[in-house]
Order: sequence, then C-alpha cells, then structure tokens
Amino acid sequence: MSIFDRSSVYPYTLYRGFWKFLDWVYPPSCAGCGRTGVRWCSDCQGSVQRITGELCDRCGLPLPTSAACPTCADRAFILDGLRGYGRYSGPLRNVIHRLKYHRDVSLAETLSLRLIELFLETNWVCDLVVPVPLGVVRRRERGYNQAALIAYPLALAVRIPYSGRALQRVRETSSQVDLGLSQRLENVRDAFWAEASSVKGKSVLVVDDVMTTGATINECAKALKEAGARAVFGLVVARTILT
Ligand SMILES: [Zn+2]
Ligand SMILES: [Zn+2]
Repeated sequence: MSIFDRSSVYPYTLYRGFWKFLDWVYPPSCAGCGRTGVRWCSDCQGSVQRITGELCDRCGLPLPTSAACPTCADRAFILDGLRGYGRYSGPLRNVIHRLKYHRDVSLAETLSLRLIELFLETNWVCDLVVPVPLGVVRRRERGYNQAALIAYPLALAVRIPYSGRALQRVRETSSQVDLGLSQRLENVRDAFWAEASSVKGKSVLVVDDVMTTGATINECAKALKEAGARAVFGLVVARTILT
C-alpha cells in the first residue's frame, strides 16, 4: 500500500494544500536559520543528526558493540518499539522550540513529514494513532497540544485512525526539564488514563515531539496496555542521546 495512492490519500492532500496555501499568503521563514521563503530549509534538514545505524529493536537507541541493550535491561520498558527521527540539537531543537513556545503551529506539519518518513521505515502494524496528551491546564495555557498537531497529519498520511481522546493525562505534572531519571519516573507515574473502548485489542502508535529519558511515553504505554491495547509503539521527532 503506497501513501501516494490518490483516491485514499485525499484528506491528506487537502491538509497539505491548506498549509501550502497559508505559506503562499504569509511567506514563512526557516525555523532553523531564519532564511525567508520556507518553513524549514534544505540546509537545516541536512544538518539534522538522524538516529540511524544499529538500533535496539525496542527502545530505538544506538546499540553498543555488544548486542544486549543496556537501556532496556536496566528498567521496565513497556513499549514494543520506539524510534526517534533525530537528535535533539541544533536546528531541530530550534524548530521544536518555535512550535512549542512561539505558537508557530505550521511547524507541526513540517515535522510530521519527518515522522511519516520514519514510520515508513518501520514494519510496525498499527490501528490507532494517539498523541502524548497535555494536562487540561497546560493545554489551556498553550492553546494547543503540539504532539497532536504532529500526530494528526501523520495519521492522515498513513491512513490509520486518529484519536485525541483515547489517551488522557489525568493529573498535571511538572515540567520534566530539570528532573533526573528517578524524579521523572515519579513525576509521571499514573499520570495517564486510556479509554478501553477505544484501545482494547489494538496496536497503538503514540506520538510526541521530544523525549529525554522516555519516562513519559513509557507511562503512556503502561496506561494503554492496562486498558487492553495489544501493542504500543512510539515515534518522537527528537530525542536526547547522552553519548
Ligand atoms: Zn534553515
Ligand atoms: Zn533498548
């Protein structure tokens, strides 16, 4: 099945057309370097450090020379697979920052293209796409959930149903930015709830913009599996890699 099959890709074509039209009305500048005319230029794209090579099947981290993944052995990892597009640095970091904190929502469409590419590199079979949800307060403050804005066009492009409600954050959590691993795990513990009627028996793809330790997305996977999901996979645009 190709995503370029014209008949079934119609909603996605409309979605892309909408953003192309807006770019024509309001010419953008590159979120990575400021060059005018495009939202994301080829130089900035070329500078992204893709996470490739020999990766762990489950957590998606580059494997050391020995085959066993130290990250997966270390702690309870619930996702059946996790992949990140690029390292969280340089222009990719700028573009995510601008999407999240400067209300430049057009960049979600730009970033979704990277995740479509990444999803097509996996052999995952998924029946439902969900974003990592924000809490009600954070959602109201920001006005949108950037993960949802990235997940929705991805779902349209790969023709998998999307739900913004199947997975919910049931309590507010503090920002993970300044927390260590054990504090992050504690901060997000039991923060999510999934709707059994939407996820039972399904293979669910969870989408987020950035991940550091994976504590949040792993906790999402826990809630989804508790609600009966058969499998849970994760895709993130950028990922911090400490090596
Ligand atoms: Zn650029
Ligand atoms: Zn691993």
